[in-house]
Amino acid sequence: MFGEVVLGIEKSIFDKAREEIKTGLPLISRFKQIIEERSGKPFPQEPLKQLEMARDAVFKSWNNKRAVDYRTIYKIPHSIGTAVNIQMMVFGNMSQNSATGVGFTRNPATGDKVFYGEYLINAQGEDVVAGIRTPQPIAELKKDMPVIFEQIRKITTRLERHYRDMQDFEFTIEKGELYMLQTRNGKRTGLAAVRIAVDMVKEKLISKEEAVQRVEPLQLNQLLHPMFDPKEKQRFKVIANGLNASPGAASGRVYFDPDTVVEMTAKGERTILVRRETSPDDIHGMHQAKGVLTATGGMTSHAAVVGRQMGKPSVVGCSALSVDEDNKLLKVANLTVKEGDFISIDGLSGEVMLGDVPTVESEVMQVIKGGLQEKEAPTYQYFTTLLSWADKIRRLKVRANADIPRDAEYAMKFGAEGIGLCRTEHMFFAEDRLPIMQEMILATTKQDRQKALDKLLPLQRSDFKGLFETMKGFPVTIRTLDPPLHEFLPKREELMVEITRMRVQNRPEEEITQKEKLLARVNELHEFNPMMGLRGCRLGIVYPEITRMQVRAIFEAATEVALTSKTVVPEIMIPLVSDVQEFKHQAEIVHQVAHQVAQETGIRIKYLVGTMIEVPRAAITADEISKEAEFFSYGTNDLTQMTYGFSRDDAGKFIQYYLDKDNKILLQDPFVTIDPAGVGQLIKISTEKGKKTRADLKVGICGEHGGDPASVIFCHFAGLDYVSASPFRVPLSRLAAAQAELK
Ligand code: PEP
Ligand code: MG
Repeated sequence: MFGEVVLGIEKSIFDKAREEIKTGLPLISRFKQIIEERSGKPFPQEPLKQLEMARDAVFKSWNNKRAVDYRTIYKIPHSIGTAVNIQMMVFGNMSQNSATGVGFTRNPATGDKVFYGEYLINAQGEDVVAGIRTPQPIAELKKDMPVIFEQIRKITTRLERHYRDMQDFEFTIEKGELYMLQTRNGKRTGLAAVRIAVDMVKEKLISKEEAVQRVEPLQLNQLLHPMFDPKEKQRFKVIANGLNASPGAASGRVYFDPDTVVEMTAKGERTILVRRETSPDDIHGMHQAKGVLTATGGMTSHAAVVGRQMGKPSVVGCSALSVDEDNKLLKVANLTVKEGDFISIDGLSGEVMLGDVPTVESEVMQVIKGGLQEKEAPTYQYFTTLLSWADKIRRLKVRANADIPRDAEYAMKFGAEGIGLCRTEHMFFAEDRLPIMQEMILATTKQDRQKALDKLLPLQRSDFKGLFETMKGFPVTIRTLDPPLHEFLPKREELMVEITRMRVQNRPEEEITQKEKLLARVNELHEFNPMMGLRGCRLGIVYPEITRMQVRAIFEAATEVALTSKTVVPEIMIPLVSDVQEFKHQAEIVHQVAHQVAQETGIRIKYLVGTMIEVPRAAITADEISKEAEFFSYGTNDLTQMTYGFSRDDAGKFIQYYLDKDNKILLQDPFVTIDPAGVGQLIKISTEKGKKTRADLKVGICGEHGGDPASVIFCHFAGLDYVSASPFRVPLSRLAAAQAELK
């Protein structure tokens, strides 16, 4: 150890010597020889010299690669330095009544209140961790050394009570005498963190406030998603690493297009959708696949956003992969994965593994999905107990981003207090609606467009009705159509190929002309920069009949639900506003239609009209906008994109260089955590200005940041009223909001 740690000689050299030593020199002499050869000096014999060298080695270890990397990952400042603690040496390897061991006062994996650990008779501490000898479970010590076992239990119980947290301790027994070497608060899994926190409140060791602070919000994810069996996982090869976009474990056969995923899933297969990147066209495949893997894209790319919303394990931006969708191949280094081969992806770590790693479904999810009764699910009870304490503490409300009743139902079960964002476009991508949507886009006259919209109206109405019913009187924020229209049409290149093919096959001229018309419209709608093109409220200004249809659907649905004596609180939200005049234009339509429906039905529904703040200009002119808008919701995906000028879909390609520890241009991905100095300032300025003209302005956030703990804390201090996160992130936002209050 001295050779390795103090003198920096590779451990393998000593290991090799240990193997070869069977004959010849005694091991100690051989080791001394190695040390003299490698370090150029004989092994120091004066104890004080040894101590000094050992002390300096500990100080130097602060700058070894492993330590530097660890600090970078956990955002520990590199400047704080370390301390050295010098302790008398005791020996666990002196006799058969000597021993050494490590342990935890509770199980760090499950949180079970059991004494947990292992030990070795006649051994040094190194032997326990190095795996040279197999240690015994600590329960055995009760038989080997009953008196000492009781002594350890007593001391560690006392240590736990003193520190009021689960302890990770080390001990040595020298000739029948026990020495405690070290104790510290033990690291634990999410499951253990929740259990231990709740148990300790029941044991009156800590307060509820402390319990709420003991669990990292992100750790709650571990309780929701299927996990790889940790023992099994070690047997499989990691072939690549990507961004851990949506946690959870998934394994299945690889398919490169969404239709095949749907087809093979229907046949009972477990599937993984692998794409260079996903688009709204892939939704059905993403829904059916066990997990999603992409080669490009960042943390707010389509695959990442939708993956999280669906609670689907997703690894994105895995740049080591080259995905050949045409030949249905995936290459990584010199390895080729073909369609139908098994891979496994770990959305918690970002690892991609070759083969079918076995998983286990989480207990909490079984309850949410209705497969398990609450009373049969102790983990679920722990989970809800902790969150109920958080709810009593927090000021910030937590809503969910949900577009369909099923997601809204999950959101409710996870404790959401309303829907903060319903992206209505997701309703149009459904199989039975896409053709009508296309008909609407292709229409050349207002009348034809209206005909198609009339067909969409009842479908939208039933969507909204479902949402209102599920949300049982909680507010539901519905956003008018946002994406550019070409997203609803087939791709330009694909159409060109198809037309050529039809010509070669001598298909009837009429059919070809039809396709050509479609292509012409696609060309017309083509944009060089669709993210800044005809989308958001611009769409509703160019085609006011779309807004009119959506608003009618909302109010007719709300009226139907109100008639069954249920409360409904629709909040209509106008996207991508940059100027108050845009908002006025759209709000005018909302008020008109609401009035019309009220006159037709005789029922007046209470509602709010507000806006998303996604464009810096809107943030800066918030005092003007809030004269008209009754609420603001920060769309921080677009606001970050437009403030930095980084494309939300492409930033994955360069952001890793910005985050690199040698470049240190960015400390965190602004698409994951709100950038306090820029985007955050816009939020603060805009909230202040907005409230200046309208004191009771309701302010929330519905970008992906609503489910990021650090951003939730930011929102609390910026004075927002609520955050809205994807349903599966609602619990962690509830916890983070309580922690913000306690701060
Ligand atoms: C946003 O921009 O933050 C937002 C919520 O809208 P979308 O992600 O749908 O653009
Ligand atoms: Mg947006």
